[in-house]
Amino acid sequence: MRKGTNHEELDSTSLSFPPFLLLSSNRDSPFAPISTFSLLFNMTNIHLAALRQLKGSCPFLNAATPKQLRSLSTAPALHCPIVGPALEQAAGGPLPSGSTRSYSTATQQQIPEAHRQQAHAVPNAQKADAKPLVADASKGKNVAPGFNYEQFYGAELDKKHKDKSYRYFNNINRLAAKFPIAHTAKTTDEVTVWCSNDYLGMSKSPVVVETMKRTLTKYGCGAGGTRNIAGNHSLHLALEDELASLHRKPAALVFSSCYVANDATLATLGSKLPGCVYFSDASNHASMIEGIKHSKATKEIWQHNNMADLEAKLSKYPKETPKIIAFESVYSMCGSVAPIAEICDLAEKYGALTFLDEVHAVGMYGPRGAGVAEHLDFEAHVAAGDSSDAIPGSVMDRVDIITGTLGKAYGGLGGYIAGSADLVDLVRSYAPGFIFTTSLPPAIVAGAQAAIAYQKECIGDRRLQHLNTRSLKAELEKRGLPVVPGPSHIIPVLVGDAALAKAASDTLLLNHGIYVQSINWPTVPVGSERLRITPTPGHTAEQQEHLLNSIDAVFNKLKLKRVADWTAEGGHVSGVGMSNNSVEPVWNDEQLGLLDGTAPEMLSDGRKSGIEMEAVGVAMNRFNKLLGKSKFKAEEFSITFDKPVGGKVAQASA
Ligand code: PLP
Repeated sequence: MRKGTNHEELDSTSLSFPPFLLLSSNRDSPFAPISTFSLLFNMTNIHLAALRQLKGSCPFLNAATPKQLRSLSTAPALHCPIVGPALEQAAGGPLPSGSTRSYSTATQQQIPEAHRQQAHAVPNAQKADAKPLVADASKGKNVAPGFNYEQFYGAELDKKHKDKSYRYFNNINRLAAKFPIAHTAKTTDEVTVWCSNDYLGMSKSPVVVETMKRTLTKYGCGAGGTRNIAGNHSLHLALEDELASLHRKPAALVFSSCYVANDATLATLGSKLPGCVYFSDASNHASMIEGIKHSKATKEIWQHNNMADLEAKLSKYPKETPKIIAFESVYSMCGSVAPIAEICDLAEKYGALTFLDEVHAVGMYGPRGAGVAEHLDFEAHVAAGDSSDAIPGSVMDRVDIITGTLGKAYGGLGGYIAGSADLVDLVRSYAPGFIFTTSLPPAIVAGAQAAIAYQKECIGDRRLQHLNTRSLKAELEKRGLPVVPGPSHIIPVLVGDAALAKAASDTLLLNHGIYVQSINWPTVPVGSERLRITPTPGHTAEQQEHLLNSIDAVFNKLKLKRVADWTAEGGHVSGVGMSNNSVEPVWNDEQLGLLDGTAPEMLSDGRKSGIEMEAVGVAMNRFNKLLGKSKFKAEEFSITFDKPVGGKVAQASA
């Protein structure tokens, strides 16, 4: 069993743990050294906490479910003829009845005021157990009386286990040369990744990698400081110009991530604008929710994508009240897309600013990859070409603040805002999340700019990604598999149960060599648990076929509900099994090149992803001044080129 994975819950009924291995007093045991066990006696809920700690070093414990750990830590386990004496020996005396050692309770006078206040903050259920530990002088341990921090952590974590929201991370190491293949903790154990947000495979793009290598060689690793102190590089400024131009806005500002960009911008604006009211879509990302919370401004939450509800809420406030409507273009867990133009209409009617998170859309929509707002005026943006000027009246122009990430379709790291010059300057000047942190490393910044510049010029990756999405959705539907309907590149497959969704993900990984993460509460509502699939242009027809057969097999094995089952129940709230649930995809046939025969084809038979040399040239030229002329040669990356397909893109063959 792999460390840090959730495979254990899959086979929970078949696992058992020999007590001598768990409680061996043999100091040479590779699994559970006795010194670690003695630690166990210095905590409240000692057994459970220690067993959790030992998970990392004992393969048997590592395979235990939280429930199994809990049962191993309770009184019955202590009555085991092997466990009991071993614990007593380690404890240096008989254990009290029950599973805990004796603690003395500090009086209120002994608890410093600050700690007492903290103790009051502990929910009632936990207070009963929150007895401070007494220093164990006999063992030379210096445990101060007071608030029991470790017990508090354990209780908080227990809540996560109980409500099934505890997160287990799979060990996935995506291989640049074998995209979309990754190895797991074992380097020889390879799986196909079907759920990454590296939507276009730009993380391994030779254009990006080559640019980053050259930057790293010339400028080293770190930025050396905040933007204010030694960390303001020409490359940061160039990236901000690139982003402003991408969104045809006067200015842009780069942050460590878009989480930070959203949080910092919303917190700053909401606290600065007098009496500001936020109007936040109910499905907004945590970064926006936190930013709004941090601003301490009034907020109204409107039903997801519901214009009537948004209008009802906006109309409660005078037009003069500063207002900000915060929303996303592509909602990444359900794949829905916001009605951006309609939201702009309401914003204009009620005097609100619009704050649009295009995190899952940049690189993916629009002729130049600027997002859904650009896509909505596709032809106008094609006609405007490279100009940085706004197209008056276009949807992108009507949105006041656009935020995006450099960490998903652009394959790197970082986030940004784009908007008016003064808005950007205000955030630059007031937002602690921007000011008081080391700026992004030059190589990261250069890689991001190379990715954006390349994708501005080359539509082929975007087209192929959306064509592969269409194909996979259609094939899943043919097999009666419950795809949550949506117009975007996200393919959620409904499971509707947390344990089953995790079991499905685990079975795909263990039995089929496929990695698709299950998405459970609180990311999606209880009862809407799902597998979230994201095809890329790098997935081949053979990989798709294997995915389809594997999902089919897992649905059979775990007896998961298919579309017909949901229909029989009257449909699921996500739209699965409902009549009239068909949705028009954002990319139409013409935009995909299906009408003029320029659509790229899904890779197959060992053909590798292509690269468009003209776009490479444009991207590389951005760095001539700082890095010198690129010696980029396609052959160095084992890529040769076929005739151009997919607009400007060329497909390469191996
Ligand atoms: N906004 C949305 C909608 C997201 O889904 C995410 C991350 O998943 C973010 C913002 C944060 O972006 P980043 O990963 O750059 O921090």
